[in-house]
Amino acid sequence: MARHTGPVCKLCRREGEKLFLKGTRCLTEKCGIERKPYAPGQHGPSPGRRRKVSEYARQLREKQKVKRTYGLSERQFRTTFDKVRHLPGVTGANLLTALELRLDNIVYRMGFASSRRAGRQLVRHRHVEVNGRVVDVPSYQVRPNEEVGLSEGSRDLASVRASLEALSRGAPVSWIAVDTKKASGRVTERPTRDAIPLVAQEQLIVELYSK
Ligand code: SF4
Repeated sequence: MARHTGPVCKLCRREGEKLFLKGTRCLTEKCGIERKPYAPGQHGPSPGRRRKVSEYARQLREKQKVKRTYGLSERQFRTTFDKVRHLPGVTGANLLTALELRLDNIVYRMGFASSRRAGRQLVRHRHVEVNGRVVDVPSYQVRPNEEVGLSEGSRDLASVRASLEALSRGAPVSWIAVDTKKASGRVTERPTRDAIPLVAQEQLIVELYSK
């Protein structure tokens, strides 16, 4: 699978903003983009010259940013887009909703993992249950009122404890209810665009894929 396995801070530096791919490290001064606030490359920051950015480049960068934020390969991202493009409503918002309802993202949003990448690993390693049954598919779409939790033996994993304790990185989003003591929670409703805390111009992605 063509998932990115190299240094993730370079992805943030390429996009010119924090994508929060490394959990708590992203909030410290060790953050890659804080230390090197310029695009990656052999020759360091380029001197002042600014290139005119084409419409296509803007659309491409926005797609790359969102795709990298959720840790998907191009094929996975495109497949998600193709699934939502015929749904009623605004396609860009539907895309973000589908990305948010992925099981690995829900595990992250519930505070069981410090990053989506760590959430994906928890799912893959069979630590996560949906309605009491293990689900090890990160792309699983969580439906409202399904109970998402950690299996009993997994609740005391050091990484999970640390992550739950650090849940102070922000209250879970409004459409998720979490019981941190039981390490479980549920999605109360499908999130609308307003309820998704992601700065993105998803319309540019729709334009790019509609060419
Ligand atoms: Fe991005 Fe986090 Fe690395 Fe900072 S520490 S550059 S936010 S992945």
